[in-house]
Amino acid sequence: MDQETLTSKFTGRVVLPEDSDYDQVRQVFYGGIDKKPAVIVRVADSEDVRQAILLAKEQKLELAVRSGGHSVAGYSTTDGGLVIDLRDMKKIDIDDANKTVWAETGLVAKELTDELDKQNFVLGFGDTGSVGIGGITLGGGVGFLVRKFGLAIDNLLAAEIVTADGEVLHADKDNHADLFWALRGGGGNFGVVTKFKYQLHDLGDCYGGMLMLPATPEVVAGCMKIAHEAPDELSMIINVMPAFPMPFIAKEHHGKMAVMVLAVYAGEPKAGEEILAPLKALATPFADMTKPMRYKDIFFPEDASYHPTAVSKNMHINSFDIENAKTAIEWLNKSDSPMRALQLRVLGGAMAKVSEDATAYANRKQPIMVNIAAFYVTEQEKQERQAWIDDFSDVLNRGDGSAYVGFLGPHEQDRLLDAYPQATLDKLRAVKKTYDPDNLFRLNFNITP
Ligand SMILES: Cc1cc2nc3c(=O)[nH]c(=O)nc-3n(C[C@H](O)[C@H](O)[C@H](O)COP(=O)(O)OP(=O)(O)OC[C@H]3O[C@@H](n4cnc5c(N)ncnc54)[C@H](O)[C@@H]3O)c2cc1C
Repeated sequence: MDQETLTSKFTGRVVLPEDSDYDQVRQVFYGGIDKKPAVIVRVADSEDVRQAILLAKEQKLELAVRSGGHSVAGYSTTDGGLVIDLRDMKKIDIDDANKTVWAETGLVAKELTDELDKQNFVLGFGDTGSVGIGGITLGGGVGFLVRKFGLAIDNLLAAEIVTADGEVLHADKDNHADLFWALRGGGGNFGVVTKFKYQLHDLGDCYGGMLMLPATPEVVAGCMKIAHEAPDELSMIINVMPAFPMPFIAKEHHGKMAVMVLAVYAGEPKAGEEILAPLKALATPFADMTKPMRYKDIFFPEDASYHPTAVSKNMHINSFDIENAKTAIEWLNKSDSPMRALQLRVLGGAMAKVSEDATAYANRKQPIMVNIAAFYVTEQEKQERQAWIDDFSDVLNRGDGSAYVGFLGPHEQDRLLDAYPQATLDKLRAVKKTYDPDNLFRLNFNITP
């Protein structure tokens, strides 16, 4: 097809290998992913998405779908195929009276969060502002409001989606209810979502931020105990890792093993301060940046040119006590990766109150989510760090082997049954058969029809 015919099909921009910004446009978040799509369509609306789907089918091009580009497995790009790039679709339509929002899937978490903040509304996504609302919502969305307001999908009311045959559908609890169920945790298997409708929550000033403490077994175990016993208003992400060389951390602590707690108390600042006081009393902090704040300020500032190369592993565990803390610190001290971390998220609260079959995200009762990650530069380091992660994860108090699909890596397609219990997977396959029987959308944790 000649270039003129190709570009005339779309309202949005078509980016081709000969374009001067092609390399910049094809870049995804993670480094080490260097795929070269034949065509990138920066879609402007659902009609563009429809045309792009039909074009990919007609030309037999592998199809990748990109919102924020943070796929841990690198699925939002393709070698020689077509990328539907949603980044120019960023409309936000807030309904004040009903406290809902329609948001297009080219938005990243921070963009939508900042806009909602202007009207004292919040919605939880994850821990990173640059993650796309597209990918994170379809995976589930485990963030700083998870114990108070549930997963991102627990606030999802409807979605507009373009399916494999180019149909634009509205899915909610009454329309295509099977599809709506599958979209809440089933990933990008069913079509291209162009916008989501979410329920919003009122939250003005709250309390939280970053607290960094020295990592002794007592401190790590103490943080976990506080996280478990706290009211649902408090969600924390507890990272055990070397203290990074940042200006707000005194030089003498740089590189020392630390606990970096990121906390949000989604309620009155005064109450949040009281709830977090025992945490601060565990040890003299390396840094304490907790304070009354707006929810939007929990996201760290980011550098768009930062493209890390990392390996990781996600799982759930049942408990984490002082013995586990000792073991974890020992393991973290064994690796020479300049950036390595054990991340612990105490779950429960609102997300666990939703029944396991209500959405495709079924692993709701597991008490703790764990990520172990390490950065690498060379291929040899990559192998060494992956081996370290695998061994480290084996010594932790493993739960049922289950995992969160949003954090699975490129070599983990065989963990589908860890992400979805058999009954959930069977139901997902049935929905896939209805909406994508030829498996057009397969660059994802693929649920084959
Ligand atoms: C630094 C970092 C921090 C993270 N933190 C969290 C966290 O705290 N909590 C959490 O829950 N997850 C977290 N994640 C995981 C994240 O939710 C997933 O990687 C998610 O898929 C990223 O979404 P994206 O839109 O940015 O990615 P993309 O790479 O654009 O998309 C990922 C995949 O999702 C599908 N997809 C995306 N958009 C659409 C769409 N509009 N329609 C159909 N399919 C689509 C496609 O299959 C695509 O390959 C984090 C990831 C990173 C890299």
